[in-house]
Amino acid sequence: MKCVNMETELNASIKADLISIGNVQVDKSLLPDQFKTTATAGPGAGGSSIFLRAGNRRVRLTINDLSPLRMIPEDDHVVVVKGDSVIASGVLERPLCHCPEQAYITISEKCIYDCQFCPVPKLQGEVKTSEKVQQMVAEAYSTGELKAISLTSGVAVSPEKEVKRAAGIIKQLARDYDLPIGVSVYPTKDSSEELYFAGACEVKYNVETMDPGLFRRFCPDLSLPAVLEALDNAVNIFGRNRVSSNFIIGLGESDETVRKGIERLTGRCIIPILRPISPHPLRDNMGNINRPDAERLFRLGNMLREMLDRQSLCADKSRTMCLLCTGCDLTPHRDV
Ligand code: SF4
Repeated sequence: MKCVNMETELNASIKADLISIGNVQVDKSLLPDQFKTTATAGPGAGGSSIFLRAGNRRVRLTINDLSPLRMIPEDDHVVVVKGDSVIASGVLERPLCHCPEQAYITISEKCIYDCQFCPVPKLQGEVKTSEKVQQMVAEAYSTGELKAISLTSGVAVSPEKEVKRAAGIIKQLARDYDLPIGVSVYPTKDSSEELYFAGACEVKYNVETMDPGLFRRFCPDLSLPAVLEALDNAVNIFGRNRVSSNFIIGLGESDETVRKGIERLTGRCIIPILRPISPHPLRDNMGNINRPDAERLFRLGNMLREMLDRQSLCADKSRTMCLLCTGCDLTPHRDV
């Protein structure tokens, strides 16, 4: 087997390669439960994942026996093998709740909406009580590794009720823990005020795509103008570097749409998170979706970093959620 150059282990282009594939076969000896996590929200919901860290970079890969990548132990670390070459090496990180260093909790694992890329409406999971969330955070805190609390949610009954529930849970958590709290929900007219005054320091409202035609097709129950308006308002309340938005790559959007979308968002001090689409087995009728290849991820990641720089925005100042984790994306200022 050819060996990876340790100088280049998990550099930005290798991370782009790993993310573009997105999954890995895992040697059974690495599979004890403490290294696995199961996503309960968003496009990855329902799948088990593993986190690899090398230097300052982290990558999340879904465990899949059919993957072209293999992860195997070697001495005190692990290596990722593609074909007959070792392409990355690092150590496995233990997720706390969902990802390393965070209690990232989905408070409602069900949704009344039906975004076509998302398995959550099909899974119709648990709506967690406040007590359950507190208990999960307490367990994560007891490890001594907890750096942030992050909450996300589907829409179990209505966006207004979900925001109210999230605000109530945040209020309690802010009283009990001296940790940054981030939250990602479908926004309402007053959600930023409610969540900020409850004690959240960062918010994420997802545009999903900045192509209005694709938005109507993939998110028929949601409103892109309403999300954009809520994001603008969120910046007024939470401030610069405290507002982000998932922007899915691979739904059929052109690079020009991505460029204009990033320009629109960064121009209002919103940090886009370019998230490669993960086709889910419960969503097999999505048509022409394509997980972006490494070259496209790398190119768009660099474009995003340049546009953030133009506005003096710093993704690496984020204290919660995906911009702190970085596992699924090429994160500007952390990876590129
Ligand atoms: S980047 Fe976000 S979605 Fe991905 S593992 Fe980290 S917290 Fe979860």
